[in-house]
This record gives sequence, structure tokens and C-alpha cells, in this order.
Amino acid sequence: MRINKKIIALAISASLVVTGCTSKTSPNPEKEEKEVVKVEKTQETQEDQKEEKKEINLQEIKPNEAGQIMVIMYHSIGEPEAEFTRTPENFRKDLNYLYEKGYRPISLKDYVSGNITTEAGFTPIVLTFDDGWQNNFNLIQDEKGEWVIDPDCAVAILEEFNKKHPDFPLEVTFFVNNNIPFGQKEHLEYKLKYIVEKGMDIGNHTATHVNYKNTDAQRIQKELGIIVKLVNQYLPDYEVNTQALPFGSRPKDKGLYKYLASGSYEDITYNNIAILNVGWDPYKSPYHIKFNPLAIHRVRGSDLQKYVQGVGMYDWMKHFEKGNRVKYVSDGDPDMVTIPENYKKVIDSQKTGDRKIRTYTLEKQ
Ligand SMILES: [Zn+2]
Repeated sequence: MRINKKIIALAISASLVVTGCTSKTSPNPEKEEKEVVKVEKTQETQEDQKEEKKEINLQEIKPNEAGQIMVIMYHSIGEPEAEFTRTPENFRKDLNYLYEKGYRPISLKDYVSGNITTEAGFTPIVLTFDDGWQNNFNLIQDEKGEWVIDPDCAVAILEEFNKKHPDFPLEVTFFVNNNIPFGQKEHLEYKLKYIVEKGMDIGNHTATHVNYKNTDAQRIQKELGIIVKLVNQYLPDYEVNTQALPFGSRPKDKGLYKYLASGSYEDITYNNIAILNVGWDPYKSPYHIKFNPLAIHRVRGSDLQKYVQGVGMYDWMKHFEKGNRVKYVSDGDPDMVTIPENYKKVIDSQKTGDRKIRTYTLEKQ
């Protein structure tokens, strides 16, 4: 909501500047500017509570909320670079690149529920880390012997980037197993609470990083239930309701798929609203008729071809630029779904729910 207010204020000030210029013939631009600022302030307070949305220039911003979104898959952050390890330096490079190219993180939960708050003209992405590596969230002792967050772990790098660029939200999901998430058993409670308090998320990656292929209903529910139980032990109100499939595996028996989504173990029940595959390509808009939140594709967080083999985030950003794939471009309004007219047929009104659908035709340029 903070973003909306900012936009309203900007809209008001923009319209006031225009009125000011046409109705007055002040020879002193400096003086005029001061007056405008004064009016703007009172107006802003009056209008603050109003839920009016700023009109965006569709031809300029070209929103397309039927376009695709990259769910980026990382594992370990450390040295040396490898198939499932990104160096801190390269991870920082990725964030910078995404930022410069107009990509902005949203939470996985917001993605699947279609609550997309990304600023107008920008493209949402979802950041994920599998396996709960210690280097995802590591504590080290400083010279006084006090425990501090390792500046080269994923959490610190993301927080540092968000501090420098507040318009790059701190949204990420860490998918953990039961071999002590993030290592350091004595710091587990601190780490889990820290992640959730900062608005980041914890997801399920099964207790033993199981290959689901030959599992039965009981095993699947136990694998998922153990993680929910572990997290709820420290965070009773936090809902672990997303899963990344270990190895991207599913049971041979399709009849068991339902347990990947929901089930129970001991006194625990779970209900996964998102299930992530292992990555290869950007996935559909949450409003797309074929969007399936229980089989979300991911892309790999790397630029090294020997590891990503054409399915890395940099490859897909290039495809977006060339127009081989169409990316999601936000209209800035989470209550509205804006699409070029010719995408109307791929939008599912069940998925858009209460949101307004707005179509427009791109003028030739
Ligand atoms: Zn894994």
C-alpha cells in the first residue's frame, strides 16, 4: 500500500504542476515552484486516504500481465563456482544485473496468489534457494566474539542489496531439509525467526531430500510433515505451504501426487499452495489459463553455460529481449490485470478473481 500512496502523491503533484503552469503567468519559476510544493502538501494529506489509482500511460509502459515470470533457483553460495554453487561475487552480479534490467522480486506466495505489487513497467521474479545450506544463512564470530551474520551468505547479500536499493524488495524463499536447516543447530531458532521477521520465507524440501519416485502416501506425508513440524516448533503461526521437489522428482503413481500438495503427519497438516520443479524455463502468469501452481518451472541462477546449458536466467533474459518469449510487465496495480487485447484469450477469470481486467491495443510506433 505504501507504493500506491507514493503513486497517488506523484499523480497529484504532476497534475498540480500542469494546472499551475497554465493558470498562472509567473515570471519567476523559482517562486512558482515553491507555491506548488505548498499546495501539493495540503492536497497530499487530504487525498492520502483516498484509494484512487494513478493512471499509467499504457503505450509507454506497455504492461503485459499475461507474460512470463522467472522463478530463479539457487543452491549453495560459496567458493568455487560449480553447478550448484554460486560465488558471493557472482550472486551479487546477478542481483545487479536483474536490478538494472528492471526485474524486481516478489514472494512465491504472492506469485501463486496473483498478488503482484511490482511497480509499473517492471517485471516480477521469484528468488529461491534449495537445500538449506549453511552459506545461505551463516553466523560468524566477530573479533569481540559476538555472533554476526556472515556478509558473504545469501541472507546478508540480499539484505545489503535491498538496503542499497529499497525498490528491490527482500523477497526470497529458502527450501530446507531436516539435516539442520542452515547448519549451526544452536542458531536454528534465531535464523528461522530472523527470516520470517524480515518477511522472507521458508519452504519445504522434505526431511531427507527424498527422491519421490518410489515413495508411498505415508512416506510422502512424513517427509513433508517433519519440516512443517520443525519450523512450527519455533514459529507456531508461520505457515510452511510451499515445496520445492528434491531432484524435481514425483511419485511413479500419479494417484499419490495429491499428497505432495496436502496431507497430514502426526498432529501436523500441510497444504502446499506452490510446488516447484527443478528449473528450465520461465513460468506462466498466475492469471494464465494454463498456470498450474503445483508444477511451477524454474530457471537456473547462473550464467555459466557448462552448468546451465541454455536454461539459465541470463539465457531467458536474452530471449525476453529478443521477443522469443514474452515477459510479464506489471501495471503497478495489484487489483487490476492489464493485458494487450490479443492476450485476452489466455486469461482465466477464475484466477484473476476480484481483480479488474483491462485490455488495450498497442499503437504502432
Ligand atoms: Zn535439493
